[in-house]
Amino acid sequence: MLSPSTAPQPQLSPPSPSRRGCIYLDGHATTPVDPRVLETMLPFFSESFGNPASRTHVYGWRAEEAVERARGEIAGLLGVNSKEVIFTSGATESNNLAIFGTAGACREQGNHLVTSAIEHHSVLGPFRQLEKQGFQVTYLQPSRTGAITAAQVAGAITPRTILVSIMAAHNEIGTIYPLAEIARACAERRIRFHTDAAQAVGKIPLEVPSLGIDLLSLTGHKLYGPKGTGALVIRTKSPRLQLQPLIHGGGHERGLRSGTLNVPGIVGLGAACRIAREEMEGEARRLRGLRDRLHQGICSQLEDLSLNGHPERRLPGNLNLSFGGVEGESLIVSLRDIAVSSGAACTSAKPEPSYVLKAIGLDSDRAHSSLRFGLGRFTTAEEIEYVIKRVVETVKRLRDLASAVKNRGIPDQPTSSDH
Ligand SMILES: *Cc1c(COP(=O)(O)O)cnc(C)c1O
Repeated sequence: MLSPSTAPQPQLSPPSPSRRGCIYLDGHATTPVDPRVLETMLPFFSESFGNPASRTHVYGWRAEEAVERARGEIAGLLGVNSKEVIFTSGATESNNLAIFGTAGACREQGNHLVTSAIEHHSVLGPFRQLEKQGFQVTYLQPSRTGAITAAQVAGAITPRTILVSIMAAHNEIGTIYPLAEIARACAERRIRFHTDAAQAVGKIPLEVPSLGIDLLSLTGHKLYGPKGTGALVIRTKSPRLQLQPLIHGGGHERGLRSGTLNVPGIVGLGAACRIAREEMEGEARRLRGLRDRLHQGICSQLEDLSLNGHPERRLPGNLNLSFGGVEGESLIVSLRDIAVSSGAACTSAKPEPSYVLKAIGLDSDRAHSSLRFGLGRFTTAEEIEYVIKRVVETVKRLRDLASAVKNRGIPDQPTSSDH
């Protein structure tokens, strides 16, 4: 079961990723749908297929009931009221609705927005677009651990500020942000506070009302729910938080997001939130244990390693390491039986070092030599032992190769380190 070569043939159940010959440790990119979630969704494809907007028959009523139950599960996980949950297609859409929706509704009050330089692209993209439309954006710079403080936020707010958006937990380096303090700094100045909580919901406790968050984005596929599902939480306050919708039409979701609801997806998102609520505490403890074992297992056998992100304030399943003297990309190629992500975005022909790792002060070499491990619900202790062994032997082999090349006086390949 450990080594892919001895792995049994794929079976229909249970979903052990290692049985597919590749151990899945990329839980920040996406997570598998929990079998319990899938089971809850299935009747809503072809049995209870009604449109929740159909008010005249039982098909519609049943679908609406299922949607409202799911809304309640999401609200329950976050400690908010069901009425404060708007269904979307995922965190990208929720972030766009929160940011453009605020800009559109609060134009009269100001044109300044505050965020950080290391937000997810689905937050940075809307801000870049708003800059083209004449808005001004302050991008706060993180510390070496990826931290952003409430004092930084407070210092950036001006009389023209209409929105602060800081993520709850980081998708690359796992750093967790001080939401309560940031929210307080915003509330004191009557500024609305949005958080992209795609990586945090279901992983760490988030009591939205006591944290003082006004708008919160979440997505189904990072918490063992289906892809293409998500929500934006909009707190009811007085005066009411106005948002301009992105999608106009039949007036679904209180006019904020028109379009027939994705009923099976929403049911799945609800089930995923219910499971997360029930199991989060124990699961976080288990993941932290496995993650610390992975860290210690690698650290005790290899030199010249560094941890990226905050040493304590980090997601339980996240480990981001830089391996001195090794290219992350060659490491990933050699570790084909382990699904991890490197600190580089391979969106272009040449991998670009991550803007996040650069922003927290890593030089290009360090940023290129990093791996992000994302442990999850189906990660086992056996898998972690196997990964430790494979990573250690692979890094040693690559380092030996590099020094052999050097000792033989073979000139290095023309480096592409300037890309
Ligand atoms: C994955 C992710 C998103 C995007 O979510 P989608 O549902 O895939 O659109 C946004 N922000 C963060 C921090 C994420 O990790």
